[in-house]
Amino acid sequence: MKKANQIKENNRVRTIITCSDCGATTFTNTGIDTKTTQQAIQRSCGTCNPPQNPLINQGWWLELGLDKNPYVYGPMQRLRTGRQYRMEEARRMGWMSWTWNDEYSSERKGLIQNK
Ligand SMILES: [Zn+2]
Repeated sequence: MKKANQIKENNRVRTIITCSDCGATTFTNTGIDTKTTQQAIQRSCGTCNPPQNPLINQGWWLELGLDKNPYVYGPMQRLRTGRQYRMEEARRMGWMSWTWNDEYSSERKGLIQNK
């Protein structure tokens, strides 16, 4: 629970919010009956419940038992799904119904004969 006390300091309104569990004080520069102060009263005490942020952005190398980044990154394969590559692959493997005489014609002979 929290206790709020509105005071006037240097001709300015200030609300002192005191945690009744640990005695930590916070303040808002608004009156006690404002939304800002009411939200501050209702939220849990930051001293009693310190924010436990999970340590994100930890290095992936920690999962591998390393204490620092080894800077070993695998090769990023180019995605061979483009039309140009698939056409070249089909031509190379003789998957096309129409072929022509080129540098792959000798390789294709075996494939076609095995069918
Ligand atoms: Zn507290």
